[in-house]
Amino acid sequence: MSQATFPAVGIDLGTTFSAVARLDDMGQPITLVNAEGDRTTPSVVLFDGEDVVVGKEAMKALATEAGQVAECAKRDVGSRVFHKVIEGKHYPPEVLEAWILNKLRVDAAGQIGPFEKVVVTVPAYFDEVRRKATQDAGYMAGFDVLDIINEPTAAAVAFGYQRGLLSPGGEIAEPMKILVYDLGGGTFDVTVMKIGGTRFTALATDGDVRLGGYDWDQRLVDLVAESFIREHRLDPREDPVTAGKLWRECEDAKRTLSARAKASIACDYRGVSARVELTREQFTEATQDLLDRTRFTTVQTLKAAGLDWPAIDCVLLVGGSTRMPMVREMLHQLSGKEPDASVSADEAVAHGAALQAGLILAKRQGRPGRFKVKNVNSHSLGVVGTDPLTNRRRNGILIPRNTPLPVTAKRTFKTQKANQKSILVQIVEGESPSADDCTQIGKCTVQNLPAQLPAQSPVDVLFHYKPNGRLKVRVSVPETNRQTDTEILRENSLSKEHLDGWRRYICEKEPTDYK
Ligand code: AMP
Repeated sequence: MSQATFPAVGIDLGTTFSAVARLDDMGQPITLVNAEGDRTTPSVVLFDGEDVVVGKEAMKALATEAGQVAECAKRDVGSRVFHKVIEGKHYPPEVLEAWILNKLRVDAAGQIGPFEKVVVTVPAYFDEVRRKATQDAGYMAGFDVLDIINEPTAAAVAFGYQRGLLSPGGEIAEPMKILVYDLGGGTFDVTVMKIGGTRFTALATDGDVRLGGYDWDQRLVDLVAESFIREHRLDPREDPVTAGKLWRECEDAKRTLSARAKASIACDYRGVSARVELTREQFTEATQDLLDRTRFTTVQTLKAAGLDWPAIDCVLLVGGSTRMPMVREMLHQLSGKEPDASVSADEAVAHGAALQAGLILAKRQGRPGRFKVKNVNSHSLGVVGTDPLTNRRRNGILIPRNTPLPVTAKRTFKTQKANQKSILVQIVEGESPSADDCTQIGKCTVQNLPAQLPAQSPVDVLFHYKPNGRLKVRVSVPETNRQTDTEILRENSLSKEHLDGWRRYICEKEPTDYK
């Protein structure tokens, strides 16, 4: 197959909903509907005996077979196993993500024919481990992942496209600074970007991978449950099926409260029925602390970009949860500007990913791209060193957060003992000076050092961090000719053998009758 025949496909793999887009013949991003005819697919997996069902049906099963359903797997990506045991099985979260991606692939292929190459998006605040796990999920779902890009960057690219900035002659002379506030189902990201000509440059990024619409839902679930306990001395959250039903009711009420001043939530448990009435004001009050967390991060990110509000031309809203009026009001009050909701909250990220896929495929054919993207890293990257005075494990940072990518950084450490046979380099991600408060993302070892190497011999550690947020490490001992070039060995990551096994298993289940 020649490059020209590859469709440019982008996937927004969301915590609660996912979306797929492709570029049409004119290079315009369009959303592909799923087999059910919907523009987004619930990121929910039902294990029903031998069958694995993804999407709307799986979401419905939360109300009847909650124990067999995996939802919000993206929140656990980076951990070894999903927090919930399903039918006695401990699934790695990236395997659950692979089932979701597989459904998206099969449904999209039903319309555009079989394809493999995709760009998948991740929250800008995803660390290296989570990015690798997402890439692995793509592989297990039968994809060739061209790139992993940040959701806010994708949204900004879609915004640029919509504003005509990517068409010939459409580029703006005056650089524009935008703040992308992205509150989805399970994650929150804020990124400050500069758009100049056709170049998209991230200036600073921050976020929370465990904060999203789901937490607003849970707050409602707790409110209703507490009222139920007060009146009937029963906790409906105890039973997984009742809890699943209640969550769906609450998510629905939350959406109603975005459009109306009042909503009611029904709850039936052990033959008792109750209905709780809630106003938008009460909802806002009950979730104020969640909103405040996003406000704090927004202010910090603006500061990290070295800007103030008058310098921001546009506050761009992305993610389904930005439909909550409290979000818009808070941002308006903070920035003094009306937030911009002109890109589709649910589809902009997938559209940006499709544009990025188009860019990569064009470049591979030797054609110039329509735009350029420059990112920053969202977490500091360092190496564990030992403080000679206190003997404590310290985080020796090589690449501070918000450094423009790609970047290569070198730092020299010292061997500890004379005659050391090998050197273990542990790589950590995080801001704390104490290595124990950071996430260990991997390690590599330089073996077979020559005999008689004195203590305190220099060891050079070189990091090369790529724009897709993936890391390469080189460790060398200048006094010898020993060197390792390594893709780091990651904690909690599946082996190639396991990945291939899952890929065969997941992809085998797909229907073969493509049009
Ligand atoms: P995303 O991951 O961007 O698709 O966002 C999904 C989140 O947006 C879920 O938590 C939804 O409950 C939430 N959401 C979607 N529509 C609305 C709405 N009208 N009001 C409040 N939240 C919404």
